[in-house]
Amino acid sequence: MATFDMRDERTGAEAVAAVQTQAFDVVVIGGGPAGMAAALAAHKARARVAIVEREQHLGGILRQCIHPGFGLSHFKQELTGPEYAQRFIDQVHATDIALLLNSMVIGIDSGEPTGATAVHTVTLMSPAGMLQLTGRAVVLAMGCRERTRSEIKIPGSRPAGVFSAGLAQRYINIENLKPGSRAVILGSGDIGLIMARRCTLEGISVEGVYELMPYANGLRRNVKNCLDDFGIPLHLSTTVTRVIGHDRVEAVEVSQVGERLAPIPGTERVVPCDTLLLSVGLIPENELSVAASVELDPRTRGAVVDQSLQTGVPGIFACGNVLHVHDLADNVTTESERAGAAAAAWALETGAGAVSDCELTVSPAGIAGYTLPGRITAVALTKLNFRVRRPVDTARVRILAGDEELLAGKVRAFKPSVMESFPLPAKVIQQALDLGANEIVLSVDPVEEA
Ligand SMILES: Cc1cc2nc3c(=O)[nH]c(=O)nc-3n(C[C@H](O)[C@H](O)[C@H](O)COP(=O)(O)OP(=O)(O)OC[C@H]3O[C@@H](n4cnc5c(N)ncnc54)[C@H](O)[C@@H]3O)c2cc1C
Repeated sequence: MATFDMRDERTGAEAVAAVQTQAFDVVVIGGGPAGMAAALAAHKARARVAIVEREQHLGGILRQCIHPGFGLSHFKQELTGPEYAQRFIDQVHATDIALLLNSMVIGIDSGEPTGATAVHTVTLMSPAGMLQLTGRAVVLAMGCRERTRSEIKIPGSRPAGVFSAGLAQRYINIENLKPGSRAVILGSGDIGLIMARRCTLEGISVEGVYELMPYANGLRRNVKNCLDDFGIPLHLSTTVTRVIGHDRVEAVEVSQVGERLAPIPGTERVVPCDTLLLSVGLIPENELSVAASVELDPRTRGAVVDQSLQTGVPGIFACGNVLHVHDLADNVTTESERAGAAAAAWALETGAGAVSDCELTVSPAGIAGYTLPGRITAVALTKLNFRVRRPVDTARVRILAGDEELLAGKVRAFKPSVMESFPLPAKVIQQALDLGANEIVLSVDPVEEA
């Protein structure tokens, strides 16, 4: 049992209250698809595992994603979000993984020493009070949150009726509430596209989807199934430049944008509506990680991890949307199984996780927006994930160490909506080390068609 300093409310005097502590090998923060897959993989490796989830239920954001399109690669079957989540919830319930629901993690203390022998203390609050869990390994699986109006600074009045698309999804699919009658959607990411269809099916008229970029940001299949099939117009290179309305949204002003994405004066148009849904990006929820001294990559806004998904803080791993934004939950599951297995190997000292063969940073170049992992510490086959910043029909992935090209992929098309992966063979990592490099560069370079 650990102790925790608290101030007595009535006397103001410092009191020392006992805070219960429970010991595990691996503590997983977040019970979405990432947390469940990581916990199951760690449990399979015989670790004692706990999942801490702030909601009353496991499943994360998938509980509100009632449309199909999940599980195609993992289960070779098309499932809805809740069906996909339920398959993992059932597996978790069939184990002795400790579940702490309705429990919000408020801090991670890695204490001293911070090296391979460190034990992390995870502090959580639940209706029953404060609790501390200790673990040799912690898996961060807190998902992400949506960008809001204030983050993209849309001018105009501040009436009711401006929602993030995910909040509207929750209102409709879980709370049985109708956010409005006539909607404009800003942003053509997958959540925006899916909400355009959902609103239409719920009898909310969708005036159009407006996208700042000259291309749609969501998956091609979502543009077809959610907009084209329902006759919803997609306006590219267009953004909302003003919200109009006093108590409730009455209209939005939209404007075309130029090459530098700035609104073009004279192109303003007023679109009457009572609801503006924003689907303008997701931000990994890393406040806890930063407080635990985990270094973030400014490109992904997730942790800098190595090939086993371990952060710079020994014993803390990260996976799923808190690490980088995924378009498919199936990819979240695959990645998180790796993180869970690596966390268990670290905690039980059964893997090579504690051994560092090398230290190479991995950086993006050309039109690659980011690469993951950002560090390589072992000479072994490594899957590099990356995303391009703009669509190209013909480009090639090149792996470089200094001026030396070590490997080149086939010429093909790349889209920002699709997370890509490139296998980096152990011998290429060794080649970079033999050249004395401390950095490997993944460059995606457009090529002229022959
Ligand atoms: C609003 C929204 C809608 C989406 N819609 C779709 C969609 O329609 N289709 C699709 O393929 N993908 C969708 N996604 C992407 C989807 O999030 C991912 O595919 C996948 O769910 C990510 O899994 P995850 O476990 O990393 O995150 P999540 O599913 O977000 O799970 C994270 C969990 O961590 C918990 N948590 C966070 N902080 C704490 C804390 N401090 N203490 C305890 N628990 C905590 C949260 O409550 C949550 O349950 C959507 C994402 C968002 C944000």
